[in-house]
Amino acid sequence: MTRFEDIKAFAFDVDGVFTDGLVLAMPDGDLLRQFNSKDCYSVRTAVNNGYPCAIITGGVSQSLLHRSRSLGVEDRHLYMLSKDKAEDFLHYCRSVGLDPAQVAFVGDDIPDIPAIRLAGLGVCPADAVAEVREAADFVSGFNGGRGCIRDLVERVLKSQGQWKFDPKDPWKGGHPEAITKFAKLTGRNTQ
Ligand SMILES: [Mg+2]
Repeated sequence: MTRFEDIKAFAFDVDGVFTDGLVLAMPDGDLLRQFNSKDCYSVRTAVNNGYPCAIITGGVSQSLLHRSRSLGVEDRHLYMLSKDKAEDFLHYCRSVGLDPAQVAFVGDDIPDIPAIRLAGLGVCPADAVAEVREAADFVSGFNGGRGCIRDLVERVLKSQGQWKFDPKDPWKGGHPEAITKFAKLTGRNTQ
């Protein structure tokens, strides 16, 4: 197991990690998810302080792409429709030039176990399934969509003196251009 102070990057599953695992199935087939703003803020803070972040999910949706961009996750680090999370996790590690031992992965269910085992720090929320809790190096005291990401990111960044932000410019430099354009066009909140 890698210590919090040696982690250089993060990768996250979505359902049951960013969210509580519930999805709202719409008549047109789309799935609506609720994200936790405090978790999302910590991811943005990690990105702003130089920690690459990836999203590796079996799901797919336009809103997921939008959410991912607004967190500062690069498009090349957004793996949707992932069939093999371990393979995608390794691809991500290579693309940021890090050894898997330097990267944390957070997941909550069976398909996440191989990536949790490969990661230097395999993490899961308190309400992950039993097999995942057994495989994880660190079980957060917080549930999926209820602070498990915030818990991990704060532990890692604080252990390295990198939990830094400017309260006057919390999103540091604003959102990527595509998101800003979208917000101006629609008047929609992008956070
Ligand atoms: Mg999941």
